[in-house]
Amino acid sequence: MSNSLIHHFEKVKQTLPKQVCLVAVSKTKPKEDIETLYNVGQRVFGENRVEELVDKFNSLPKDIEWHMIGHLQSKKVKKIAPFVSLIHSIDSLKLLREVNKEAAKNNRIIDCLLQFHIAQEESKYGFNQQEGIDLLNSEELRELKHIRIKGVMGMATFTSDQDILSREFKKLVEISKLISIIFPEATEISMGMSGDYLLAIQHGSTIVRVGSTIFGSRN
Ligand SMILES: *Cc1c(COP(=O)(O)O)cnc(C)c1O
Repeated sequence: MSNSLIHHFEKVKQTLPKQVCLVAVSKTKPKEDIETLYNVGQRVFGENRVEELVDKFNSLPKDIEWHMIGHLQSKKVKKIAPFVSLIHSIDSLKLLREVNKEAAKNNRIIDCLLQFHIAQEESKYGFNQQEGIDLLNSEELRELKHIRIKGVMGMATFTSDQDILSREFKKLVEISKLISIIFPEATEISMGMSGDYLLAIQHGSTIVRVGSTIFGSRN
């Protein structure tokens, strides 16, 4: 069991250029699986539910970098603010204000990515290009001293159609370029999951979020 987990993890690692950050998406998976990968050197793990993230943080080594990758409700920010190392899923100014407030209480500056809606599917969260740019240009954002905008995140359509995926990844890269005109430090591009991370990297992804290819399929 743990041998095949390590095997799948090493296979993903081998395909990644050195500069690309691998977020091992451990949602729904047991703590033992995280420990197994921790013991072979992985430090960055991603979760999409606050309760599960807090529970895993509490019982696993403290030098793990926990990334929140799923939709985040404002009222739950306080639970992860003490420890979260990157929030991928900022999709409103309201949420950003809340992260800023809770980060301040914890004497921290929390790194954030703005999530953009790039997929064709209706259900995915995120800003459109103009909303994101308006947010970055807003006066209010400059007053939020306890957050740092590090870049963008997007989820492509759930499809194996390479043309559709390529179009969506290109769109996010284009948004990223526009954003780095306003925020030169905001260079991270979180895109690519199990089914599409190699294509995402070809398009310029700097962070990939890979779950099932490493841990096996979820129920
Ligand atoms: C679950 C999830 C992933 C990983 O999905 P896989 O297809 O299992 O690699 C990546 N990003 C987000 C936002 C997720 O919720």
